[in-house]
Amino acid sequence: MSICADYQELDGDVCISDDYSKPKLPKGALERISLADAGAHSEADEIVDTGEDGKVQKPKYKYMKFIPEAIKYSAIGHKFATTKPDKYTQIGREYNMCFKMLRSDSKLIKTVLSSYGYLQCSRRNNDVNLIWSNTHLSQSVLRTFLPWQRINHFPRSVGITKKDLLHQNLSLMCTKFPIGFDFFPKSYIFPDDKAILLAKVAGSTTMKPHISKPAASSRGRGISILNKPSELSAIICDERSKVLVSEYITNPLLVDRKKFDLRIYVAVMSFHPMIAYMFNDGLARFAVGEYTEEIGDWDDVSKHLTNYSLHKNNKDFIKNNDAADEDVGHKWTLSGLLRNLAASGHDTKLLMIRIEDIVVKTLLSIQSQVAAASRAAGLAPNSCFELFGFDILIDTDLKPWLLEVNLSPSLACDAPLDSVLKTKVICDTLNLAMVPLVYGKNSRNVSAGEEENINDDNDLASMVSASSGPTSRSTSPVSNASSAKKSRSFATTPFRRYTAGDVRPSGCVSSSTKIKTCASRMKCDRLRKGGFIRIFPRKNTYYMYKDIITETNVQNLDNLLYKEVNGVDPEVGDLADDMTFVHSELMSCDEYNSFDKLSPVTQQVLKEAYDEAEAYEAHKHLNGTKLYPRALPKLRPETRRRTLSCVATDEQRREQRITAFLAQKSVLAAVAKDPDYQFTQAAEIAQERKQNPYL
Ligand code: ADP
Repeated sequence: MSICADYQELDGDVCISDDYSKPKLPKGALERISLADAGAHSEADEIVDTGEDGKVQKPKYKYMKFIPEAIKYSAIGHKFATTKPDKYTQIGREYNMCFKMLRSDSKLIKTVLSSYGYLQCSRRNNDVNLIWSNTHLSQSVLRTFLPWQRINHFPRSVGITKKDLLHQNLSLMCTKFPIGFDFFPKSYIFPDDKAILLAKVAGSTTMKPHISKPAASSRGRGISILNKPSELSAIICDERSKVLVSEYITNPLLVDRKKFDLRIYVAVMSFHPMIAYMFNDGLARFAVGEYTEEIGDWDDVSKHLTNYSLHKNNKDFIKNNDAADEDVGHKWTLSGLLRNLAASGHDTKLLMIRIEDIVVKTLLSIQSQVAAASRAAGLAPNSCFELFGFDILIDTDLKPWLLEVNLSPSLACDAPLDSVLKTKVICDTLNLAMVPLVYGKNSRNVSAGEEENINDDNDLASMVSASSGPTSRSTSPVSNASSAKKSRSFATTPFRRYTAGDVRPSGCVSSSTKIKTCASRMKCDRLRKGGFIRIFPRKNTYYMYKDIITETNVQNLDNLLYKEVNGVDPEVGDLADDMTFVHSELMSCDEYNSFDKLSPVTQQVLKEAYDEAEAYEAHKHLNGTKLYPRALPKLRPETRRRTLSCVATDEQRREQRITAFLAQKSVLAAVAKDPDYQFTQAAEIAQERKQNPYL
């Protein structure tokens, strides 16, 4: 879709009915019709309110649509920024769209949202449209959520994003479905399983290599490879700092004799029923050294670990400086890697189907937990969305192994390739999340703005002067929103905030309403998913995963969604029989190493997925260099709008960071002078950092 069409959708005259500001909750279901039916732009889709009698009423929400190109209009020095600087920012400003970041400082998120005129608020502001957080929010906070607000995590998704819980959940599934869940390396949680593993290796001086990872860590920190029983006993852990010890995969697939792993982006829009997407591109991250299994080599991180953060400062690390070259240096795109593997005769489409299967099974393993937590928090069906980073290792049989699932995949843009790919991922994720444009909350935010004083600037020098005197309402960006619209929203304030004890109406959403909402979302995703491929539900997925769904869930909403979308009951369909052999063939990668070798029924079940898998291999970033010649562009200062309290918080964090940096430097200097330096000071800093992750 062209930029123009995107913009028109937002600019359309059917956006929000006056009715919406009335403090009544919508009756009946949500359903999508094309705007052509509603007499509006033919290209766009809209979710509209339908009454109980089924009559289509006026549209309820308009939804933001993000495109990476919008950044150009806010970037310093870009020609669009001079000719049409407000083209995209005016959208968010008109509606006073607000966001806040919790335990995250992602430049990419701030850049995308600022390019659309979003106002960044401090963590205390609860009237924001979007929360981008690097941690989960508590149930009591989620209970106060309103239906138009969006948060980038589902409650309890920690069940797959923390290494020990992932192992626990997958092990449980493995006991129920031993054939389909053979994709996570055999693992033990220390200290709980320490005795079991030690008993296994007792009496011998050697053992199969294992890898130990702190359960709650990331970026390769605290990892070691162990090949002696004595090293197992030496692992330091306790109930509060558990360690995952996994069998080490000794036969990784190598490219140019180097080990690599894959970062796969997965967006989940609903857990119950499940609606999940996988991005058609990702990253392949290479180790810098050539892989060997020689004695004494196991400690060499440069050969055995593939974390970018560990290698980026290595003298041998080759950076990719051109987004159009997808297979150069130590970080490739997934599509660049797949083309390389396909050229060597591998069936890469089957590989991607297997990865999709791993993703769906992993998500289903926590479906019931997330569903229960969402119900308890009384969340509306569209409140949460989540972008996971799945880390996958491929072995020489082209079998994908799940290493871990990241709660907040890195959005750092160190190279043009990162910027191009991650901006697309974020824009498409936000599009799928369907962030509504709402007027009503402006009344609240304007008063929040009065308290906090809205500020335009983002450089530190201007912050100081700005904070010395309050910005008057007439000059604040919030106040610049159309006064006619504002007076309308001041008249009524429909968005009552609920306290933790209240039962919020959205918490009582019936299953049928939920199913209708999800079905309507799925129809809308045609224009919103961008590079994402819907991996669940699609044609035969209900049949494939039916046993897992029925085993783990009391209420089978996936079945109801299937009925709603396809108009038939899947339980009476042709493919309702046992699918164990499909899972068995998917797991047996050495035997079934190409699509032709799969049994005819398995081929039939996987046909749609196989055809769609073509998209993973396609060239995608040819134009990327034009958009990002280096990395993420710098925004014009006036584009990044923050409330004064947000500015104050940022400034406080910056000071803390500087203090910590100086303290660390003095410790290093002291150590350099005196090798016997006592690390009490360093320990204090570490403790402080633990308490304040922004340091
Ligand atoms: P972190 O969260 O610290 O990045 P990971 O689980 O992603 O931890 O592991 C870091 C790296 O270690 C991976 O990128 C991979 O190269 C390697 N690795 C992890 N687990 C295994 C394993 N079981 N077998 C072989 N290599 C592994």
